Amino acid sequence: MFDKILIANRGEIALRVIRAAREMGVQTVAVHSTADTDAMHVRMADESVCVGPPPGSDSYLHIPSIIAAAEVTGAQAIHPGYGFLSENAAFVQIVEDHGITFIGPTAEHIRVMGDKITAKDTMKALGVPCVPGSDGGVPDLAAAKKIGEEFGYPVIIKATAGGGGRGMKVAKSEKDMANAFQTARAEAKAAFGNDEVYIEKYLTTPRHIEIQVFGDGKGRAVHLGERDCSLQRRHQKVFEEAPGPCITAEERARIGKICADAVAKINYAGAGTIEFLYEKGEFYFIEMNTRLQVEHPVTEAIFGVDLVREQIRVASGLPMSFEQDDLTINGHSIEVRLNAEKLPEFAPRPGKITAFHAPGGLGVRMDSALYDGYVIPPYYDSLIGKLIVHGRDRDEALARLNRALGELIIDGVENTVPLFSALLQEPAIHSGDYNIHWLEHWLELGKLG
Ligand code: ADP
Repeated sequence: MFDKILIANRGEIALRVIRAAREMGVQTVAVHSTADTDAMHVRMADESVCVGPPPGSDSYLHIPSIIAAAEVTGAQAIHPGYGFLSENAAFVQIVEDHGITFIGPTAEHIRVMGDKITAKDTMKALGVPCVPGSDGGVPDLAAAKKIGEEFGYPVIIKATAGGGGRGMKVAKSEKDMANAFQTARAEAKAAFGNDEVYIEKYLTTPRHIEIQVFGDGKGRAVHLGERDCSLQRRHQKVFEEAPGPCITAEERARIGKICADAVAKINYAGAGTIEFLYEKGEFYFIEMNTRLQVEHPVTEAIFGVDLVREQIRVASGLPMSFEQDDLTINGHSIEVRLNAEKLPEFAPRPGKITAFHAPGGLGVRMDSALYDGYVIPPYYDSLIGKLIVHGRDRDEALARLNRALGELIIDGVENTVPLFSALLQEPAIHSGDYNIHWLEHWLELGKLG
């Protein structure tokens, strides 16, 4: 086991990793920008190193500073959290070249899954069902129109290098194609420096179902069921749960085995998530995330495992502490994402927290780096916390969520708590009867004012 690890991240996920490490007796090094000197992850880690000025590109994404911080503190491994450098294959290579262990998969696996066309080809070859669409990149408008004709409209044009819902455009008919194709390419170029796009059949009423997998890097892998993340705004998840309200035990076992077998075959190491759209009983692969997901706690809740502890164990060369047969589902868990945003526009609102009180009690977990008097800096993601509840069944989890939201106090900055309080009034949320477009429609109806 490592003596000391560095966490190349901030906010709630940095705390999450520090907590797991501390329970394992592993020392932690926080890195921070000059904007985060008073941040909770800096206070909670055993040591901290300032790695640069506020902009992420000069600090949390600045590879030489992160490596130097690991070297001067003698950290033997780096946990990347999610976002920032977590899916940067070049970073992983540099880490390894410096004799430091990256807590996550290999650079090669990150590279393969980071390019969505290669990822799809790889998954297809491993027997994972995919969304029908173009065979690889689509070079020009004429080729795009041909695909539209072949698969039938609507289609979605997606950036090969995509992420965070950017570089995606829907063409409802051939009439839309020119505009959608050019816009997707331009967005992809601006966001990722790569304008390659591919095309998929656009599924009109799917749910977003993702399978958590975990591999030991030596050909063994398990799955930890699914998460349903169908409540999305602008392709971004806001409410996640496990198990999926519409997935049967047979479906879980079938798709779970396909995913576990696929990652076992490529000797995948650590945590990964294989994302699908699910429509009329069929699963369609869309992408694989080669890191811990924001919504991993709902899986932890129902399986009673610590995924970060497991990541650290496997990276240090220890075996996984569970096998497929050890993993059984207990109850239901829901996570809501708390963002410092003004509703109904979801406009980022950094600022000073004048009062903070976290809810508690049975089955309530609050993962947040907030504290009284904390000043949320304007430079980073607006996620300020995650409220996770666990109940014996979905109804109990929803009731617990309602109760916990009532206890939660976040004063000083506008945030997304009222969104969830309003959603809990909706029959569709209680019946679980919605797809990935439901939330957008609901917002368009002006339900938040
Ligand atoms: P990103 O990496 O940018 O998040 P994904 O490929 O994971 O992109 O897709 C994000 C979301 O976009 C999905 O959860 C879904 O809401 C929507 N989406 C992607 N592909 C399709 C498709 N073929 N049909 C319908 N919706 C899609």
